[in-house]
Amino acid sequence: MMNYDIAVIGGGIAGYCAAIRSQQAGRKTVLISQGQSALHFSSGSIDVLGRLPTGEPVVDPFAAISQLESAQLENDELASAVLQEAALPEEADSRQQTIRQTVQHPYVKVGRTGVKQSLLWFKEMLAAEVALSHQPDHANHWRITPFGTLKATWLSQPHVYQHRTNAPFREIVIIALAGYRDFQPQILKDNLARIADFSGLPIRIATIHLPSVEHDQRHPCERRSLDIAHLLQQAPIWSAFCEQLTEMTQSDDLVILPAVVGHGDGMAILDRLQQETQRHFHEVPTMPPSLMGMRLEAALHRIFIQAGGVHLKGDQVLGGHFEGHRLTEVYTRNLTDIPVRAEHYIMATGSYFSQGLQASRQAIKEPVFGLDVAQITPRTQWGGHDFVAQHQPHPFMTFGVSTNDQLHPSYCGETITNLYCCGAMLAGYDPVFEGSGGGVAIATAYHAVEQCITDNVCPATCQEALS
Ligand SMILES: Cc1cc2nc3c(=O)[nH]c(=O)nc-3n(C[C@H](O)[C@H](O)[C@H](O)COP(=O)(O)OP(=O)(O)OC[C@H]3O[C@@H](n4cnc5c(N)ncnc54)[C@H](O)[C@@H]3O)c2cc1C
Repeated sequence: MMNYDIAVIGGGIAGYCAAIRSQQAGRKTVLISQGQSALHFSSGSIDVLGRLPTGEPVVDPFAAISQLESAQLENDELASAVLQEAALPEEADSRQQTIRQTVQHPYVKVGRTGVKQSLLWFKEMLAAEVALSHQPDHANHWRITPFGTLKATWLSQPHVYQHRTNAPFREIVIIALAGYRDFQPQILKDNLARIADFSGLPIRIATIHLPSVEHDQRHPCERRSLDIAHLLQQAPIWSAFCEQLTEMTQSDDLVILPAVVGHGDGMAILDRLQQETQRHFHEVPTMPPSLMGMRLEAALHRIFIQAGGVHLKGDQVLGGHFEGHRLTEVYTRNLTDIPVRAEHYIMATGSYFSQGLQASRQAIKEPVFGLDVAQITPRTQWGGHDFVAQHQPHPFMTFGVSTNDQLHPSYCGETITNLYCCGAMLAGYDPVFEGSGGGVAIATAYHAVEQCITDNVCPATCQEALS
């Protein structure tokens, strides 16, 4: 049997944040995680809120969270009025539910102050590994994407250019690698040239030739960002790369570089590249695997292990046992009949992408415990009319596990008081449409641990000391 204060299920950004925060707070913590998380596909920037659920663009995400809170307050008042007016209690209850469900955004549960506190904690916690930064006025900045579009984000890695209104460069140079197919410089160039902020600024593509990338291919599609990063660890290839970069660009250019540098050795090698070339880089993520996201995951893993956490990596929680309103133990694929027990459980198993939610033709379910999921029926209303619609999100993206303000989910309508849900598995927001994925994951994970810590149960570490 394995006993912990807090057991965290799922090793994406939400799971890691919950596990690190819990371990930092002196709680004996186990993290159980299977497979890759969304970080392997991410830009490595943390999006907090790029636009409101109404589609309105956001400049200051924290001011916008206050707007979400006010909307919730108005809705609650409306729901109370409905209660007073309704002839039958059942009628009032169902109408109240409908009104509340439209605005149950996770940020409202955490609150503006809590969201900001969690993000500043995240930045501080990672500082020694990856020095993320934001704008001095705490507003969003724009990140140039691999497609040459601009995306609002809040926290970016050191070699990401944070665009606001003007681009103070002589020229923009997009670096291509001959023979590497997971980055499309021409698309980036064409789209970037259409953006008003960059009009009048020359944009060109410069191609670097590294013999081992170009000629030594087993199959045209086989070289991934990870392979290039490993090749660049060889001294002659590194020198050729730096020399060509320096020849093709100048120190007052913005040099857009696909993220093919720095795996394992993380930021150190990128810092070295900048020192050796004296160039101003803007790293863009490539097709997966994304080194920029993996860099964050590797750092989070190191921080958790250094803090003394236990990581059951590559294991999967298959189910658990409930007694009354509490989850008492969970079972995993590798530990078979040996249960993992904890005072509190934090679940961060992600969305459809990570199988934290599963869709069948009839319904959307949470597959581990069968927790209650907020969704609409019939299925014909799950998707919008257009597959790619700029201003109309697909409803299914906001479906997920429903929780109360403490992030406790329910099972068959009964609240589970020692289980907390966080991250992409939650209902009430659309991370893609709003651009809020990283922020919600961090804020809700932090909030979940705060709830566990303020619960006065004697932690396992303290019980061990007393026995
Ligand atoms: C392709 C893509 C790109 C994105 N890019 C960005 C970006 O650049 N910036 C940004 O801010 N947001 C981005 N997002 C959104 C954001 O990354 C996600 O909302 C956030 O990472 C979700 O984190 P999470 O920890 O909740 O879930 P996930 O990252 O999905 O992690 C869930 C983890 O739980 C594990 N798991 C699932 N079931 C079990 C189980 N039974 N037992 C054990 N483990 C289990 C999964 O294997 C996975 O590792 C992106 C999302 C996607 C899908």
